[in-house]
Amino acid sequence: MSDVPLVDLSAEVELLADELKDAVDGVLRSGMFINGPNVRAFEEEVAAFAGARYAIGVNSGTDALVIGLRALGIGPGDEVITTPFTFFATAEAISNVGATPVFVDIDIDTFNIDPQGVAAVVTPKTRALLPVHLFGLPADMGALMRIAQQYDLAVIEDVAQAFGGRSEGAMLGTIGDLGALSFFPSKNLGAYGDGGMILTDDGEAAGKARMLRAHGGRNKYANEMIGYNSRLDEIQAAMLRTKLRRLDGANALRRAVANRYDRALGNLPNLVLPSPSESHVYHQYTVRILSDFRAVVQDGLATAGIASAVYYPTPLHQLPVYSRMGGAFPNSETAAREVLSLPIWPTMAAPVIERVASAVQRLLQPA
Ligand SMILES: *Cc1c(COP(=O)(O)O)cnc(C)c1O
Repeated sequence: MSDVPLVDLSAEVELLADELKDAVDGVLRSGMFINGPNVRAFEEEVAAFAGARYAIGVNSGTDALVIGLRALGIGPGDEVITTPFTFFATAEAISNVGATPVFVDIDIDTFNIDPQGVAAVVTPKTRALLPVHLFGLPADMGALMRIAQQYDLAVIEDVAQAFGGRSEGAMLGTIGDLGALSFFPSKNLGAYGDGGMILTDDGEAAGKARMLRAHGGRNKYANEMIGYNSRLDEIQAAMLRTKLRRLDGANALRRAVANRYDRALGNLPNLVLPSPSESHVYHQYTVRILSDFRAVVQDGLATAGIASAVYYPTPLHQLPVYSRMGGAFPNSETAAREVLSLPIWPTMAAPVIERVASAVQRLLQPA
């Protein structure tokens, strides 16, 4: 039996091969590789899809966060509240603009920042909230937006793992002041290289982001601030246009895979299913495995030729770079100890899902 990977990106390439080849071919023949018509069209199509006024393509999700923070005027001396249970880039972006990340623990059921912990860490220096929609599950935007309003804070959504997801009807990334998307290949809308995008309705922030991604100038030789070279390229944009048209369908397929897992894995001892939600877009299907059984399951799956992964083994406050900040984040530490992400991708076939689920059942079922 062949091995089951964590994500099978080749299945999708196979399915879209003709369209992707046409897209790349068109760019090669056009001779325009940077800032061409595909980037502009893709920006317009993402803006229309998401319901955002502006969409600005950049080089990566990390750059979308960095440039997004700077576009909102966040920098040295400012504090930005975020979660310690996320990919490093979330906090790294805050540090990179000269601001300080301030962590608030997660809700153990959702793995997302717990709004109830936010007010206690607001100081006169706090400028923004940076929630992450981790694994594809929307953070509690209703509560977070109320807190932001109360303390006059900007809200930047890290949508790297949840593009296409909605919260109370609104597309994630359009609820706060600004949303940061990643098109890293494994993300819900994945490129075949790096890419990212900023969503916003704020015309001033959009203008600033456009300047920052191109060396800080409106025109090539009229630099107004210190910026970056952070462009989305034409070839990625052309291929992403093809995939954007299928994003809702792909997210629905992810949900169907997750529902199958939910049915197969319910009622197992020592296993906690992902928080049930209509809005989940399952970038990852992440369960919690209690009482030291996680290593048993992960090793057992590996022996059966099934990949699994721990996202994330170390909460950010325990990493060497942030370990001097202090604070207690017990839920993040529990999550780091117990989470396990199982294989998931949109076209994952039913027998493959069943094979993974039966292996987990075998490993956790009392003898
Ligand atoms: C992937 C990811 C990023 C960074 O995106 P890149 O495109 O890899 O730079 C940021 N935040 C989260 C939560 C991510 O998962």
